[in-house]
Amino acid sequence: MKTFTELNLIEPLQRAIAGENYKIPTPIQSQTIPVALKRRDVLGCAQTGTGKTAAFALPILNRLGLQNRSAKAKRPFALVLAPTRELAVQIGDSFATYGKHLKLRHALVYGGVSQTSQVRSLQRGVHTVIATPGRLLDLMNQGFIQLDKLEVFVLDEADRMLDMGFMPDIKRIIRELPAKRQSLFFSATMAPAIVEITDKLLVDPVKVDVTPKTRSVKKIKQQVIFVPRKGKPELLQRILSSRGDLRAIVFTKTKRSANFVTERLNKEGLKAAAIHGNKSQNARQRALDAFRNQFVKILVATDVAARGIDIEGVTHVVNFDLPMEPEAYVHRIGRTGRAGAKGIAISFCSAGDQGDLKSIEKLIDQEIPVNQDLSVTLPSSSPNSTRGRTGRKSSGGSRSGTSQGGRSRKGSGSRGSGDESTGSEKGKRTTKRRRRRVRTEKASAVKSARTGESSAKKSSKKPGGGKRASSGAGATESTAKRRRPQRKGKNARSRVNASSSE
Ligand code: AMP
Repeated sequence: MKTFTELNLIEPLQRAIAGENYKIPTPIQSQTIPVALKRRDVLGCAQTGTGKTAAFALPILNRLGLQNRSAKAKRPFALVLAPTRELAVQIGDSFATYGKHLKLRHALVYGGVSQTSQVRSLQRGVHTVIATPGRLLDLMNQGFIQLDKLEVFVLDEADRMLDMGFMPDIKRIIRELPAKRQSLFFSATMAPAIVEITDKLLVDPVKVDVTPKTRSVKKIKQQVIFVPRKGKPELLQRILSSRGDLRAIVFTKTKRSANFVTERLNKEGLKAAAIHGNKSQNARQRALDAFRNQFVKILVATDVAARGIDIEGVTHVVNFDLPMEPEAYVHRIGRTGRAGAKGIAISFCSAGDQGDLKSIEKLIDQEIPVNQDLSVTLPSSSPNSTRGRTGRKSSGGSRSGTSQGGRSRKGSGSRGSGDESTGSEKGKRTTKRRRRRVRTEKASAVKSARTGESSAKKSSKKPGGGKRASSGAGATESTAKRRRPQRKGKNARSRVNASSSE
């Protein structure tokens, strides 16, 4: 498939695509769009950054555009489920962009904000609903949305849904879908629980795999810098002030660390905004908008908050902390180098992180080049470390030899790295403690993400059951339900809002 014209999309869509300056379909688009137009089910293995939004949005808009029906109150023809508010907003923007020459309406439905304007849109009637699972169920339970006229169902980022504990909600929603429908399913990975859902959801699907790992990694110039933990803030500042046109996303492991880094950068006159699960929905959207509109050049994020973020022109991704899960590395660096652009991904690696670095390199099947100019010698705290992954010493002295791997390097020079442990045993203990701490932080991030989003999970009733639950901003499911009768949202935003979900 060479051009978009060969995809046989209706003229208003061709015009919108040309307006976006898309020349050729991405692999996920060229493989998905023709079969989706034929109304086949699709099982797509792809992540954001591959152009998958257009891969499902264009066939849906094509179908709805050809049918040219007016929207029905409460009864959408298409439903897209996304794990986070941010992703839902992005998908909504894509529907608006690709569908701008069509007379079709869509609504966004997500938790963590007043439901008033969402309900109003649904009552007016929309062709497509783009929703996060918790709020959708909530509105279904209240009778504000019915899926009996649904023709196309999209489940996006299913693996993320699984991570965030949305699977029970998804199963409930799937139970309400009409048997005769088209389903398009996307996930970056295919864990057993995901396969189980695909078996329930899809009928004789066309399988599309765009192997995003190698795609995204190839376009991005990667490097690792060995630095003691205490030296990271200064190094970050040095890197971020090196280029005037730089636009960077900095990833930290914890929310606390994201706040610390953001404050420090701002103090140093480098404008940065933070996005993580302890921030309110509106604060998160404000930070994203500020970054998108270039009021700030640096966005400091945790993994869950940043998932799915698609912002053009990100020149650098900096892993202030390496992720615990190697897959997260691929997701992170995929924030740069979007849609063919070049990007730079820099990872800081401190003593105790070498094991994580090794796992990442194993996953991406390549050794990340060391920035020798900025690296310092670190003690290796990873017993598995087999090669001398150290750079130049910070002051004087020679490079640590590559023969000094793992345990044998116990006590080797850690000049200038006051906070780093010097022995492998101590390093192992530190790593264990750190892993425990990160696991706890991660669990609390997901929990807070689901605040206001996973509502209706425990006490979900059949749609139309008339049970009214209102989840105002930041309300947990239980508090929201206790707050009956329905709280009227005073600050309902005109744009139908999205959910929490870091
Ligand atoms: P997605 O994976 O859907 O989040 O898309 C990632 C980025 O690629 C978005 O900024 C899209 O606007 C852009 N994009 C999608 N399809 C194409 C295409 N065929 N050509 C150029 N850019 C595209």
